[in-house]
Amino acid sequence: MKETMIVTPWEVKGKINYDKLVKNFGLNLIDENLYKRLEKYLGDNFFLRRKIFFAHRDLDFILNEFEKGNKFYLYNGRGPSGHTHIGHLISFMFAKQLQEAFNVKYFIQLTDDEKFLFKEELSLEDVEKFTYENALDIIALGFDPEKTKIISDLKYAKTMYKQALRVAKKLTFSTAKAVFGFTNDTNVGSIFFTSMQSVPAFLESVKQKKKIPCLIPHAIDQDPHFRVARDILPKLGFYKPASIQCKFLPGLGKGGKMSSSEPNTAIFTTDNQKDIERKVMNSFTGGKDTKEEQRKFGGEPEICPVYQYFYFLFEEDDEKLKMLYNNCKKGKILCGDCKKELSKRIKKFLAEHQKKRMKAKKIIGKFMLED
Ligand code: SF4
Repeated sequence: MKETMIVTPWEVKGKINYDKLVKNFGLNLIDENLYKRLEKYLGDNFFLRRKIFFAHRDLDFILNEFEKGNKFYLYNGRGPSGHTHIGHLISFMFAKQLQEAFNVKYFIQLTDDEKFLFKEELSLEDVEKFTYENALDIIALGFDPEKTKIISDLKYAKTMYKQALRVAKKLTFSTAKAVFGFTNDTNVGSIFFTSMQSVPAFLESVKQKKKIPCLIPHAIDQDPHFRVARDILPKLGFYKPASIQCKFLPGLGKGGKMSSSEPNTAIFTTDNQKDIERKVMNSFTGGKDTKEEQRKFGGEPEICPVYQYFYFLFEEDDEKLKMLYNNCKKGKILCGDCKKELSKRIKKFLAEHQKKRMKAKKIIGKFMLED
């Protein structure tokens, strides 16, 4: 049976058709001309070259303003409902590259209030704990604390709430309902929440008392929140935030994105070496049932999450990736060997990341905004 595609900020299911999503969400694909303009600043960029970041809203506006001397700032974030998995790191990694290329400020919002409101099973203490843990993962990527600030909605509430009220006053229930599918059973906090999510998209303008463009690099499922921000912000006298969207790193099971709610098919940054190996070796693949069939008919890298992991993060060399693809198709490699290699690379990456995470504990205070 064909599984229907569901993509909302809280749920991603089924086979993802990115062309359809771009059309449904009213996004634009990043065309050759825009890639070239970005390349001027970023050089040859892995995430752009692979078209992992592939769609946008008003990216040309951001570049035009930058070239006129009107610098933008970056904003994105994550909902701290659990430990960070490696799929979450992609938007932060790319934001870091943008930050360094354009030398701009960056706000990262950890929406602890959202996760408390939307996840029945999470207490305030849980979301506070995960805010701290997720912040360590972000800092471990090597950000400059002078230019990078992390917002916990709960800890920075005095500043955030005042601005969120301005958004909430312009946002009707019918708009929130149409964008997010809320019903009469939705708690009122959830309905209000998108107002908090809009704030970092104009916070720097408030701080500097002038209109500053904002660019949001994010996974495509979060687009509805920013559609609301784009609708409301001009009514408050600010620019519409621009955005650049990426595809999802799939989970290690069959179909869907990597999700914290499916821990056996997600690789968390806190996983130990044994867990990583177990999860990768148990992964779904595009391989055949027996070695003989694999050698005879080859595998299907197109549907294989193991291949996708090499594509998204763990094989930088395009030639080697192409070789993996061809060898898989011709049955020249077996899934067991392929998974072993991926497991080795993820283990190496996370062993390093975990060391940096430990060090981040000492400097977290330099990043967190509190009032
Ligand atoms: Fe996937 Fe590798 Fe098996 Fe091909 S050989 S189906 S890429 S695990």
